[in-house]
Amino acid sequence: MTTADRRITLIGAGLVGGLLATLLAQRGFKVQVFERRSDPRRAGYEGGRSINLALAERGRHALRVAGLQSVIDPITVMMRGRMIHDIDGNCLPLQRYGRDDSEVIWSVSRGALNIAVIDAAEKAGAIIHFDQRLDRVDWDGMRLHVTDDQTGESREVEATCLIGSDGAGSALRKAMSEVADLGERFEPLDHGYKELEIPALADFPAGTLPANLEAAVARGERYAMEPNALHIWPRGNYMCIALPNSEGSFTVTLFLPNEGDPSFATLTSADDAMTFFQRDFGDAVPLIPDLADDFASNPVGMLGTLYLDRWNIDGRALLVGDASHAIVPFHGQGMNSGFEDAVELADLLAASPDDIGGVFDEFSRRRKPNADAIAEMALDNYIEMRDRVDDADFLLMRELDRTLSDAVPSHWMTHYAMVTFSRMPYSVALERTRMGEALLRELTAGKASLDEIDLALARERVLAAMPPLPAF
Ligand code: FAD
Repeated sequence: MTTADRRITLIGAGLVGGLLATLLAQRGFKVQVFERRSDPRRAGYEGGRSINLALAERGRHALRVAGLQSVIDPITVMMRGRMIHDIDGNCLPLQRYGRDDSEVIWSVSRGALNIAVIDAAEKAGAIIHFDQRLDRVDWDGMRLHVTDDQTGESREVEATCLIGSDGAGSALRKAMSEVADLGERFEPLDHGYKELEIPALADFPAGTLPANLEAAVARGERYAMEPNALHIWPRGNYMCIALPNSEGSFTVTLFLPNEGDPSFATLTSADDAMTFFQRDFGDAVPLIPDLADDFASNPVGMLGTLYLDRWNIDGRALLVGDASHAIVPFHGQGMNSGFEDAVELADLLAASPDDIGGVFDEFSRRRKPNADAIAEMALDNYIEMRDRVDDADFLLMRELDRTLSDAVPSHWMTHYAMVTFSRMPYSVALERTRMGEALLRELTAGKASLDEIDLALARERVLAAMPPLPAF
């Protein structure tokens, strides 16, 4: 059988489903996708708010493989590093992520990216059925029960091979669990999140533009803060971050405990929220003119990590992206890892279209250790972002980390570079991070600055302790 005879049915045309449909159709498979939401090109992206994500090398590589680089470039904004806002309202100098502008991450609109992959999938020949929600699967007859969310009508559809790209609350995963033990475990985080907005300078409601930004408007600037950075307001057990959007706004995300003080449970009114923001994020308040209203109306999102022992039922069904390995967003890698899934799966299927069961097993064998590794690193990064980015010991470790990557490039890459700028398997990046952090702690112990560290000795220790870097 060739790929052209092989029909594949996807559930979910979100970020991963849209890209996977593109890659499979480009490789000649007959692809159909059932998507619960309406077509975002006609209906507007769900929620209507500008929500963005950080796109890193793994995700960009996958988009390049799909031929989407030129479509994506205009909707992304370069973020060179972190910009920390301290409790006194000072904005500290940029902490670069990498050596130069070749080592950066990119902020991209979720809605625009979703539309780009959906467009590409259709252009490649995939058929996407919008407003079609998967309810359940009749495994004996391999029939899907789908409901049209607009009309309420249900119908049955035949399928031979199913791929679930239907996100963390996957309906296909639920259906698979009815006939197989997937070993599912969800570990909720005790923090939730809420999204707010810093408008583009031109869009501040009349009378709300802070006086210090009037000159910026006069100069024709669009952004209320430095655009080419990921802004962080770290406050110990909670934080805000802000990522730029290409039209001049920023999406602000508050990460806060669900219980305790302060928490989403204690900030019950718009007044509580204003008082809390004035106290802890004072410099951001004048930039978020709709803070009180948005805080009251925007939902609190839930966060957590999904673990499965098993991702497939022989060649009948497989889960990818958040449907099999949803993670907390603190390394900005959920979509990036889902995009890696899509490329790896499309390549495996194209190489062995006659052995879908073997491909699904092999895909799970290859990807699961990497999914587990990025899940762990994402949880570690939460502590780092909210608690450590402004602590002196941590900053010295990061300085030595960067110094070693220049001094011993054959054996040392920063943790951030391995995860974000390379395509080294996450499991390898995690193993090297564990070894590297132990060495950094040892070399910086009791030291106040880089001048106090014997760099020749540090270099020797790296060459002795770390295996050479693999090529990725
Ligand atoms: P989804 O994007 O959830 O898409 C699932 C699709 O399936 C949707 O279109 C949905 O409508 C459809 N669907 C669901 N149920 C059904 C059904 N029954 N029938 C038919 N269709 C259905 N990742 C990054 O890489 N970088 C970041 O900076 C980043 N930031 C994040 C910030 C936050 C606050 C959060 C919560 C996540 C973040 N992520 C980030 C993670 C990223 O959002 C996810 O990993 C990514 O969206 C997963 O894509 P997906 O296609 O697997 O799932």
